[in-house]
Amino acid sequence: MKKFRPTIPISEWKIATHLEATGSIQNQSGLPAYACSCKWCSLWKSSFKNILPSWFASELKRILVDIPNPADLYRFETNGKYSSIRIVYFIVGKIQSGPNAWSEGDSGNTLMYRTIQEKPYISLAVYSATHYYGDVPILNDNKAGELICLDMRLMVNNEFQHTHLTNA
Ligand SMILES: [Zn+2]
Repeated sequence: MKKFRPTIPISEWKIATHLEATGSIQNQSGLPAYACSCKWCSLWKSSFKNILPSWFASELKRILVDIPNPADLYRFETNGKYSSIRIVYFIVGKIQSGPNAWSEGDSGNTLMYRTIQEKPYISLAVYSATHYYGDVPILNDNKAGELICLDMRLMVNNEFQHTHLTNA
């Protein structure tokens, strides 16, 4: 194990992280959320500090995740009161331990998210990017490790959106 691959906890997962490679693939042009100025990306950029619990933000920063600039971010569900937003980051290394993010069922494999915070609700699944359906960053150093997906779901109510969007 090289010294630039420290094993770092991300919630319940432990990941041998290649820090240099992880830093190098953040905010990569061509990815869906790159330089996006939609309502949801703007909300995230202006208020992730008010949304993420500080311990979790510290874990992400420690592995050089560029928090305001995810690889993908979009609203996938709304019920009029709440909006559910998916936020995806990529890091480089190897997952050493943690809950299996996939559950095999009759209707195929389902992602199993783990709760990070109750209010606003945030959950996380960590898994190899080979199971990710979408655009992934280009990793030039293919000896650095594999691409790992940090796949987050955030639920914000309309009141929260209103407050943070008008303050943005
Ligand atoms: Zn956007």
